[in-house]
Amino acid sequence: MNGGIKLAIIVGLPGVGKSTVLNLAKDILISKGYHVEVVNFGDYMFKYVVSQGLVKSRDEIRNLPLHIQRKAQEEAAKNIRENLEAKAQSKENVVGFVDTHAVIKTATGYWPGLPLHVIRNLMPNTIIVVEAEPEEIVARQLRDRTRYRSDYANIDLVKKLLSMNRMYAIASAVLVGASVNFIMNREGKANEAAEELVSVIERL
Ligand code: ATP
Ligand code: AMP
Ligand code: MG
Repeated sequence: MNGGIKLAIIVGLPGVGKSTVLNLAKDILISKGYHVEVVNFGDYMFKYVVSQGLVKSRDEIRNLPLHIQRKAQEEAAKNIRENLEAKAQSKENVVGFVDTHAVIKTATGYWPGLPLHVIRNLMPNTIIVVEAEPEEIVARQLRDRTRYRSDYANIDLVKKLLSMNRMYAIASAVLVGASVNFIMNREGKANEAAEELVSVIERL
């Protein structure tokens, strides 16, 4: 689908700083003359489950029964594809970012955020795994009062999920032949992570 659009999927643990780094990268890319579309996959899922009256906050989605999460995931992938196609039409230098998760910890077990039916709708050029030191991730999760991430805020779990994120991201990339990049979001240095992200995009 991607014609002229360079598409990157951004994944990483809750609270690692994906949305923060993306906002910064967006500004840099706009200043360089790109059209930038940032799509948050969770926003689309949230819209669907709210329309069904199922949750009040986005951090409740991962606790819903898996068949509902799967339905919301499917709806989100379809709607995002349509949205990106519409936005990219008759524009040049378009960069699309999808802010999402390679793996979600659900009550039924670890669950892929980018299975074939999702990733083939998106057809990314690259998957970018945002990482940080485990202790810093836990501190960010606990510090951010706008979100509820305490189900993830455990150092051993975070260490395990850092490695699982890599595995799930690679597995998804293999499905569509996308490259994979790893970006470190160091404490107080989200700007540097954003610069690195921009340099990956410019090489696509
Ligand atoms: P989620 O997957 O749950 O949406 P996320 O990966 O998008 O999480 P953010 O919301 O971007 O994470 O960041 C979580 C918190 O960490 C925020 O309070 C943000 O300000 C802070 N943060 C992000 N990057 C850094 C950094 N490099 N140094 C310090 N704090 C940071
Ligand atoms: P976020 O704001 O990125 O944490 O997204 C909110 C929630 O949406 C996540 O905690 C997940 O429950 C859900 N979500 C986001 N992306 C995906 C995905 N690709 N597959 C399944 N669930 C997702
Ligand atoms: Mg986010």
